[in-house]
Amino acid sequence: MHKLEIPEEIIMQFGRSKALCVLTGAGISLASGVPTFSGAGKISYFRNYTSDYLASSAAWRDYPEIVIEFYDELRNRIYKARPSISHQTLHGWEQRRFAYPLKFFLLTLNFDGLHHLMGSSDIIELQGTIWQLRCTFCQTIVDLVPFRQLPKPDTCDICQGELRPNILFKDELIPRAIYRQAVIAIEQSDTFMAIGVSGKNPYIHQLVKIARRRCRNLIEVNPQITPLSEYFDVLIRSRAEEVLPQFYWDYLSEENNFFWI
Ligand SMILES: [Zn+2]
Repeated sequence: MHKLEIPEEIIMQFGRSKALCVLTGAGISLASGVPTFSGAGKISYFRNYTSDYLASSAAWRDYPEIVIEFYDELRNRIYKARPSISHQTLHGWEQRRFAYPLKFFLLTLNFDGLHHLMGSSDIIELQGTIWQLRCTFCQTIVDLVPFRQLPKPDTCDICQGELRPNILFKDELIPRAIYRQAVIAIEQSDTFMAIGVSGKNPYIHQLVKIARRRCRNLIEVNPQITPLSEYFDVLIRSRAEEVLPQFYWDYLSEENNFFWI
């Protein structure tokens, strides 16, 4: 495998961050075997419908049974996936935040639950999770057991309403409260890193623009140029699993060294 060496200066700069906000996308889960809607390893069709269509509100309105089957199939594939070295690295960075005054925020566009499985906590899941269903009537959330193939309920226990995946359909907006949490995380950070994010959703552009205004260092990790690339200071054209372990977020200035005595 080609190994890309990250310039020392960039790693040092990264290591000096006091508050880091990471946004992850489908690219980080490819190495874990999670299928995506686009790019390598994608699911293109299911029962003669495109996956793009099945992930839309129109499909949910017209063919809810097929949409449910489609997400069941996705869940069946995801349950075999396991966190990669990238998920592991991010979990390691999260552990550093307990050394005050460092802060770490994790935003993800992925609904596969792999960050949770790795042990990361306080994840802002911008598009929901495949391990939850939501009642379309009373909005109650039903938690499924992550990474287990167990029978799931068909209707809401409370009101018998129809249950849908608690995942944003492609034409839906991020709930305001979750978007707000993401903005607050970015505003508190000095370094912003986007990993494996294709940048197709307009609201992601908005978040990255906020990062451009508020953060000192912006790093993009993606094998391809993306519509977001222009906002970043450092572009690392590589897959997450090849480069993330090279970043050590372990710089502590003199005045903070006492934490380690
Ligand atoms: Zn209900």
